[in-house]
Amino acid sequence: MTTILVVEDEPEIRRFLRSTLGAEGYRVVEAPNARRGSVDAGTHKPDLAIVDLALPDYDGRELIRDIRKWSSMPIVVLSARHQERTKIEALDAGADDYITKPFGVGELLARVRAALRHAARSPAGQALVLGSAKVDLEKRRAWRDGAEVHLTPIEFRLLAFLAKHLGMVVTHRQLLAEVWGPPYVEQTHYLRIYMKQLRDKLEADALRPRHFLTESGVGYRLVADEEP
Ligand code: CA
Repeated sequence: MTTILVVEDEPEIRRFLRSTLGAEGYRVVEAPNARRGSVDAGTHKPDLAIVDLALPDYDGRELIRDIRKWSSMPIVVLSARHQERTKIEALDAGADDYITKPFGVGELLARVRAALRHAARSPAGQALVLGSAKVDLEKRRAWRDGAEVHLTPIEFRLLAFLAKHLGMVVTHRQLLAEVWGPPYVEQTHYLRIYMKQLRDKLEADALRPRHFLTESGVGYRLVADEEP
């Protein structure tokens, strides 16, 4: 049975998560604060954690750093609209994705399923299908409508890093540090330039991307048609 740890101090939200996730067949472990969440993460070894950022004892970001010291379990953060900065820091600290309050059942379940799939997937040597484009990550080759598309080394590294986090959000800082190196983490215009190039080469309509999605103010998310 898939176990989900919910770390959230608001009883109504906990109740909503418990009933929604429970109805889908997930086992839910609830913690009302970070301290308890940290203990439950260790004892229950959940398959996924949902962590509220504003907790009464200590910060959700600290809890995420704690968990990341010993576990790569997928972590989805719950954040309020005014917590944009905190949310990005939580993602940089190792959270895999986020949900903004208030959220509905559909969005919650989609994020949970994507995060569980992400955790179960083996990363290397996969073919990605992005509409009429195909990418072989192992052979480092790409095609669109059957014709081979040349990707520059930077474009490929960007694509490969997004593909490693398929379906999950990746922050500007994470992408810049990975592809260009830590001194470049503020150069978000690099990303705009190279993301446009990737869309021009691989999206059917670069102005209405269906695969290389912008997460406004946060980063990017790669969505594939067929998840390997
Ligand atoms: Ca809270």
